[in-house]
Amino acid sequence: MALRDGNSYRESLRALNIKVYAFGEKIDSIVDHPLFQPHINAAALTFDLAHDPTTEALVTATSHLTGSKISRFTHIHQSTDDLIKKVKMLRLIAGKTGSCYQRCVGWDALNANYTVTYEMDQELGTDYHQRFRRYLEYIQDNDLMVAGAMTDPKGDRGLPPAKQKDPDMFVHVVAKNDKGIVIRGAKVHQTGIVNSHEMLIMPTMAMGEEDGDYAVACALPTDSPGVIHIFGRQTNDTRRLEKGDLDQGNAEYGTVGGEALTILEDVFVPWERVFMCGEYKYAGLLVERFASYHRQNYGGCKAGVSDVIIGATTAMAEYNGAAKASHVRDKIVEMVHLTETLYCGSIACSCEGAPTPSGAYFVNPLLANTVKQNVTRFIYEIARLSHDISGGCMATMPSEKDLHHDEIGKYVEKYFRGVDEAPTEERMRMARLVENMTGGTALVESMHGAGSPQAQRVMILRQANLGHKVKLAKKLAGIKEEK
Ligand code: SF4
Ligand code: FE
Repeated sequence: MALRDGNSYRESLRALNIKVYAFGEKIDSIVDHPLFQPHINAAALTFDLAHDPTTEALVTATSHLTGSKISRFTHIHQSTDDLIKKVKMLRLIAGKTGSCYQRCVGWDALNANYTVTYEMDQELGTDYHQRFRRYLEYIQDNDLMVAGAMTDPKGDRGLPPAKQKDPDMFVHVVAKNDKGIVIRGAKVHQTGIVNSHEMLIMPTMAMGEEDGDYAVACALPTDSPGVIHIFGRQTNDTRRLEKGDLDQGNAEYGTVGGEALTILEDVFVPWERVFMCGEYKYAGLLVERFASYHRQNYGGCKAGVSDVIIGATTAMAEYNGAAKASHVRDKIVEMVHLTETLYCGSIACSCEGAPTPSGAYFVNPLLANTVKQNVTRFIYEIARLSHDISGGCMATMPSEKDLHHDEIGKYVEKYFRGVDEAPTEERMRMARLVENMTGGTALVESMHGAGSPQAQRVMILRQANLGHKVKLAKKLAGIKEEK
């Protein structure tokens, strides 16, 4: 089929029979419910931009399987140029949404599975890669949105999957027959899953021999029998249910991706959709590939989000009449510096990418993990500087209803005004945007999205090649290496 646009994407979601709960109720249609609109709008934009002549070159690619024009979000990276285009596209789209548009998680899962299934087949003589290529072709041809489903609930973090008191703390295979497998468990923090067509399940960490049932990778439709999604809360999410848009800050695209707890209650998956089943030695490799691809992204999308925060902060300084103050200008420079440092890291890990045995390109994992580690710090600092410059009004301002109230509206109008040239409503709108983009949920996403800081530090240490660095130092210090 032809590349979807946003409307065709929305209609395709209507056709799904997806079981979603939010605020204790089953949602009839996520496409028509205000709670889900921002996330759906952000994802829909990724489909629309494939048809926009100004963005098409970045947002589409040529399938290496079929030669057809496809969404870049379903493409397998064929060069460092593809890896660089990925980062540029993410920054471009995030600058338009100011929030997460969710499609990268599944994209990274596609690339990780593509590379690892190839290596498994080479070493084990299995046929996972051919299966995976057929699945990938189906995704590319139908321009589907895939949720990358990695994170398990994990229960007692000190115990491996097989030692957990409750065996469902990690997704595992509970039955097998000649047609397929049955899986049980849950995936947590699932970005964009309630408005995705498919989910690509992967193990969440390296596993040992006794964890064989937990070493499972497979794909299934998000509305498969036995799948239930429970939508997560976000800061100020009930503002979406109110009349008016000002108090939401970014009514069109929201804050972050819209995450859910996804329950898998004895779900059947046919063999043609199973890409790992018991090969526990490859669980760690799959996790590392996926994590590095996803950490590559964060200097792209978060740089785009930060572009908007810097713009909003500069505008707030102007509304407040403080734009010319030298300390304000210096703080804005610092925000730009931090943003561009993040972007540099993502571009660098892409330039330093290399082909895997499958031919698909992989990022430099040390640099990709460094970028994400920087995100866990720099986004907080960017938010702090934005709060410093924007002022406290975003935390104390009355509501849109008060601004437009017959009796008291004139007071809000008068006392929340900054410079004379700018209407109060503009200043309030901008303050709400800053509040939305620098508040609770957005910050936590920067910390834990694509893995918690410690997960990056483990990979940084593994990639650091300290032995080589010691050799360099010993040579200069005149210390002879022992044979
Ligand atoms: Fe993509 Fe960024 Fe959202 Fe992750 S947080 S899915 S990289 S936009
Ligand atoms: Fe994320």
